[in-house]
Amino acid sequence: MNFFITMEHVALYRQFRPKTFDEIVEQKAPVAALKQSVRTGRIGHAYLFCGQRGTGKTSIARVFSRAINCENPKDGNPCNECPTCKGILDGSLMDVIEIDAASNRSIDNIRKICEEVTYSPSKASHKVYIIDEVHMITTDAFNALLKTLEEPPKHAVFLFATTEPHQIPATILSRCQRFDFRRISQEAIEGRLRYISDQEKIDIDDDALRLIASLSDGAMRDAISILDQAASAADNKKITAADIESMTGTVNTDFLAAMAEILIEGRYDELLIKCDELARSGRDTIQFTLDLAGFFRNLLIVRTVPEPWNLIPASPATYTKMYNVANKTSSQTLVAFVSMLSKIVSDLKWSPSVRTSFEISLLRLCGRKVKMEEPLTPLVIPDFAKKQAEAAKSVS
Ligand SMILES: [Zn+2]
Repeated sequence: MNFFITMEHVALYRQFRPKTFDEIVEQKAPVAALKQSVRTGRIGHAYLFCGQRGTGKTSIARVFSRAINCENPKDGNPCNECPTCKGILDGSLMDVIEIDAASNRSIDNIRKICEEVTYSPSKASHKVYIIDEVHMITTDAFNALLKTLEEPPKHAVFLFATTEPHQIPATILSRCQRFDFRRISQEAIEGRLRYISDQEKIDIDDDALRLIASLSDGAMRDAISILDQAASAADNKKITAADIESMTGTVNTDFLAAMAEILIEGRYDELLIKCDELARSGRDTIQFTLDLAGFFRNLLIVRTVPEPWNLIPASPATYTKMYNVANKTSSQTLVAFVSMLSKIVSDLKWSPSVRTSFEISLLRLCGRKVKMEEPLTPLVIPDFAKKQAEAAKSVS
């Protein structure tokens, strides 16, 4: 996504990179295992960290590289104050080396690493190579690497990170301790964003943070990048969900709810007005159709699941809107809308005139009903204010 590529220069993510295992959000299993190996001093020669982007693979590799070399580790964490930790942190100590395999993928690059690793570390106890995107290296280069992994020098530690573990040869995999990193939960991302906002005195409301967390799709780096961009654009005003929507080009829930209601109730005239509004806003039609399909999926959850807040992170105001719309139709009809909208998305990708095809498809969809198998049961909208008060009480 272009949006994130332009965000690479931002500083907040680097500034708030965790410096110890204890600061790391989630990834509890790998963190516990790595801390334990630091405590016991049983360090392997090769580790493989797998997981989607932004889940903390490189951050954890860096913390681990200091923890195993630290002169005064604290309960498995690096102290970050001894000369070795400081040398690694400021990049002056050459015993921890970071390599991006995407731009160092040839056999010559890897041969050079395999040769260098045979020399003892200059000051640290372990010579650590952090190799990011390791699946990018060539087959020949993997073979060269395999020889080193078969008989590693005793000071050598390789920390491989990848988003594509299935592209790594089995011979390499079998020599690594593998850790799978999970997508970071919405709550954990929201919590971290709140912490950073408070530290940096960024004035932002909870709905905006919730929206950022849901847009980032489990990737902490993306979430912090969006926060960073919003903060630099905010100009000392409070950042709201609407600001995040306009910045990232997401359609707001009011618009989605209005569109869903029109489609459910079959109001053709208003549908065309909304389509025109959408076209004028300059938003991407295919992305909007995806968002609309996602909104119908949420309506289905609200319609069928007793406690939907475990599945959809949204504010009470958004929930009230969703309950009101979901109340107007049956779950069978919602299922039909979700599946028809998904089909429209794939059709639009091949359409010579996206806007026309979009309008025609929605007109066809407008007012569609599935023969109801059961009478419509009205939904009771939960008392969100009461819920919040109860939650606040149980915390304090
Ligand atoms: Zn230290």
